[in-house]
Amino acid sequence: MKVFISVDIEGVCGVVNSDSTGHGGKTYDEARKQMTDEVNAAVEGALAAGATEVVINDSHGGMNNILARDIHHQAQVILGTPKPMMMMEGIATDCDAAMFVGYHARMHSHGILSHTISGAVVSTVWVNDVICGEIGINAGLAGHFGIPVVFVTGDKHATEEAKSILGPIQVAAVKEAITRYSAKNMHPTKAVDLIRHQAEAALRQRGDVKPLVFGMPVTMRLEFLNAGMADAANFLPGSVRVDGRTVDYTADNYVTAFQGLRAMITLAGK
Ligand SMILES: [Zn+2]
Repeated sequence: MKVFISVDIEGVCGVVNSDSTGHGGKTYDEARKQMTDEVNAAVEGALAAGATEVVINDSHGGMNNILARDIHHQAQVILGTPKPMMMMEGIATDCDAAMFVGYHARMHSHGILSHTISGAVVSTVWVNDVICGEIGINAGLAGHFGIPVVFVTGDKHATEEAKSILGPIQVAAVKEAITRYSAKNMHPTKAVDLIRHQAEAALRQRGDVKPLVFGMPVTMRLEFLNAGMADAANFLPGSVRVDGRTVDYTADNYVTAFQGLRAMITLAGK
């Protein structure tokens, strides 16, 4: 059994602001250690439930945060950027289940460091009229390959968002946001223990979880923070301007639609 794990950092226990999310940040070293401990806990849970192969994808920022030396010896880790599938690089039809560790809630939610792909550019993303953050967008990529997302960790807003879009899956809420930049955190070792336990339970129940499959053709609707960003995004051939801040991209394949979404965000961020 092969398990794919995508790991972000904003939803890791103890992370509450940008001091913890980038190289040079005051608490970044501590955060990447906890990120590594949390993903290792998910690996241990997966192995306990019968996984024979685990592929981890570092999914935050420059995608080079996990301490590769400290990763569980039975796992492989994908580092660096850019990658065609970005936060989902490594997902393929030979996987049996996917897990999201350290994820955060979508832009405009009350969760810790809430954003959708780029907090400086993106306001709201709809996939076929469903508002999606990174959890929904990336679960759609897993669904394209027929893979269910069985387990999500992060703050309580992120885990609630996961359940609202994926159904009653196993989650681990390691902190509770007070504001976008403050939270009540579990003890870090308790968070690790919870993730190990819940990951194992999630994988044992994977047969109850359906992949998230969007109808085709699929439309990615992107509302930007301002109209100038939509002007730039609309240079993408095939994109359609909806209103001042909103551009659509439609494709008959989810991966192509996702690439359109990524391309529009890149253009808008220039
Ligand atoms: Zn991130």
